[in-house]
Amino acid sequence: MRIALLGPPGSGKGTQGVVLREAYGIPHVSSGDLLRAAVRDGTDLGRKAKAFMDAGALVPDDLVLAMMKERLAKDDCRKGFLLDGFPRTRAQAEALTKMLGEAGTPLDHVVSLSVAEGEIVARLRGRREQEGRSDDSDETVRQRMRVYVAETAPLLDYYRSHGVLREIDGVGKPQEISGRIRSAVGGSR
Ligand code: AMP
Repeated sequence: MRIALLGPPGSGKGTQGVVLREAYGIPHVSSGDLLRAAVRDGTDLGRKAKAFMDAGALVPDDLVLAMMKERLAKDDCRKGFLLDGFPRTRAQAEALTKMLGEAGTPLDHVVSLSVAEGEIVARLRGRREQEGRSDDSDETVRQRMRVYVAETAPLLDYYRSHGVLREIDGVGKPQEISGRIRSAVGGSR
């Protein structure tokens, strides 16, 4: 099972990612988590990525693509994977389609979580208070929303035209939302 989760910041991708990893027995591959780990470890990638992340901007495609290629080539991804936060741009989506197409392992489902913007701003404020994420200030949140609308939302059309888009209402209890995802995606591992 190869799934990508799409949705604005604060739409619950992280939470649903954990649930789906358990349900399908596939690794949860979050580009944001990988980038935060690189920043924490002070790697070359982390040093290059940090300023973009703190500004709520996207890390350049070439850096993200190299990181994701390396991650998806690992053994645990052979049985499938759940992508969270990637792809974020048309160029990333096209590179991913090409890479997976060449391997004969295209995405099975692109799950899009829809949540209204007002609800998102409230959720992200709560998250900042709980987790102290340095990229959750009001201005950065607004910037990340703008980036989502401009760069990532167009991917909905891209994946709709590929016939793999499953649009899910992202409002409700986490359990209800995972139920909706599982019925859209189907049951088996
Ligand atoms: P996230 O945890 O997915 O919200 O990602 C946090 C930050 O990491 C984003 O605001 C971006 O700066 C960066 N980031 C994560 N994934 C990507 C991606 N696919 N392309 C570019 N930047 C990314």
